[in-house]
Amino acid sequence: MNYQSILEKIYDEIQPFANDGKQADYIPALAEVNPDQFGICLRMLSGETYELGDADVRFSIQSISKVFSLAIALSFEGKELWKRIGVEPSGSAFNSLVQLEYEHGKPRNPFINAGAIVTADVMITHLGVEKAEDFFLNFVRELCGSKDITFNDKVADSEQSTGYLNASIAYLLKYHHNIDNDINDVLHLYFRMCSLEMNCRELSSAFLAFARSNEPFSHAGVELTISRVKRINAIMSTCGFYDEAGEFSFLVGLPGKSGVGGGIVALYPSRYSIAVWSPRLNSKGNSILGMKALELFTTETRESVF
Ligand code: GLU
Repeated sequence: MNYQSILEKIYDEIQPFANDGKQADYIPALAEVNPDQFGICLRMLSGETYELGDADVRFSIQSISKVFSLAIALSFEGKELWKRIGVEPSGSAFNSLVQLEYEHGKPRNPFINAGAIVTADVMITHLGVEKAEDFFLNFVRELCGSKDITFNDKVADSEQSTGYLNASIAYLLKYHHNIDNDINDVLHLYFRMCSLEMNCRELSSAFLAFARSNEPFSHAGVELTISRVKRINAIMSTCGFYDEAGEFSFLVGLPGKSGVGGGIVALYPSRYSIAVWSPRLNSKGNSILGMKALELFTTETRESVF
């Protein structure tokens, strides 16, 4: 299959939507990003890479970091983790307080903010507050093969100083005894992980580790069995796209995760991973061009898990 020409065709076909939506601005530093950028990178497990546009421009991965923190927390806690976090789609906004209150402080899944705040807490319990950030960075650096990816202090500080809703979530979790460590330490780690910057090439490389689903996962001290990687992919499939996970599955048909920085990464187990980035978001928080491009990709290639 000529993947490069498929990517080029997709690029042309998404142009009518290029001015729809706008970048996230509730984190002030993200509002400064040029919204008119688009990059895509496909990496096959067999070794080939195909890319187009701004595939080497780094951006804030935001909620995509939740997949990495889940992998770390699951490797430390095993199935005990599921006593503190559920595995059901939330059907509500990623930063909803209402559901968390109804459900007595047990987040619906690890990919809404409440769930990722709990995985950050687990990381601090096992690694200590000093080492948790470096452990995370080292892990993602090893997964993607770039030693110089790093946190964006400006984005992290910008979110920390305006992150009242995430702070409310953390206090509610603490009230329900679902945070063991100091709330400020947990939130600080959470915001730092969200501010990590990577490009499409690096993200697709990192997610090849999850696509390589028929061998145990062992990277930088994070060990997961085949069955645990399968579960992470399953949660990506049902919960990876805020309350649009059903729509993404319907249109694209791949497990994946999006972030409000405009990135989306998706994978086809045992075959490929694909990352796409464009900052303009729809009302649910997903990249408009990113979703369109992936929908066209699985349609053109007829390669999706369904
Ligand atoms: N740091 C963002 C927040 O907590 C992540 C949101 C996202 O990408 O879904 O609001």
